[in-house]
Amino acid sequence: MKVGIVGCAGRMGQMLVREVLATSGCELRGGTESPGHLALGQDIAARIGLSPCGLDIRDDTPSLFQISDVVIDFTLATITETHTAWAAQHGTKLILGTTGHDEQQISSITAAAKKTTIVKAMNFSVGINILLKLTKDIARTVDEEFDIEIVEMHHRHKIDSPSGTAIGLGEAAAAGRKTALPDVANWGRDRGTGKRSPGEIGFASLRGGEVVGEHKVIFAGNSERIELSHTAYSRELFAKGAVIAAKWANHKDTGLYDMIDVLGMGE
Ligand code: NAD
Repeated sequence: MKVGIVGCAGRMGQMLVREVLATSGCELRGGTESPGHLALGQDIAARIGLSPCGLDIRDDTPSLFQISDVVIDFTLATITETHTAWAAQHGTKLILGTTGHDEQQISSITAAAKKTTIVKAMNFSVGINILLKLTKDIARTVDEEFDIEIVEMHHRHKIDSPSGTAIGLGEAAAAGRKTALPDVANWGRDRGTGKRSPGEIGFASLRGGEVVGEHKVIFAGNSERIELSHTAYSRELFAKGAVIAAKWANHKDTGLYDMIDVLGMGE
């Protein structure tokens, strides 16, 4: 399986390079970066302390889509539409880890998934996907006396909030309660916003240091509280999950899937 990595010099991109090079059955086909990036022209592997692989970091992402079976993209939401268009044009499978998409960008992903296979997950870790399933199950089981709050913490460089994973957890909780998240979400409480509304799902985001990712889902009842939590120790787990998804997608028909499908945990 020929794999291309866009944003290969980024925090996740570097992890993905290591993972693809270490995975049997995967051939690293190339890696790209944004025009003007300092890493352009450097060997993709040597740049991160591995033996040179003979491939330089380039900025021609369209040809990366042409020569790869699967492209893995953990970059910026603002460039997803271009990437989905190239994936659809060349029938390249796309593993999309980028978060923070708006409605128009989501529509471009849905449209491209009619022409190729896309796995989009706000979190590629196995543990988080188990957390998503448990969140939905608990939300379905407990009654509305239980207030649902989602707390996340990430490193100081993160640009979107709440995290894509926190939103996904909110969607799972809302689905368990047979509601739609936009109707019940409270995206953050500023000073003096009044009492909590019944049925709302609240979010709180913390930022600091180099925290890879922490998520907690709280079900607070009148006389008891249930908490589910997940801590990511290293970005390696996201890269491992993305490569598992790439291998799965390579043999999967056209469509839009998530990590729950890859792990066979769908209903
Ligand atoms: P980062 O800023 O370290 O890396 C992004 C890389 O994309 C940078 O190297 C940047 O130069 C590159 N880039 C920007 N424009 C480009 C272009 N036009 N062509 C090619 N490359 C381009 O960020 P990061 O921490 O690696 O996170 C990237 C994304 O992945 C974020 O949206 C983050 O939320 C998401 N993420 C998702 C998961 C998951 O499991 N789904 C896990 C971690 C991070």
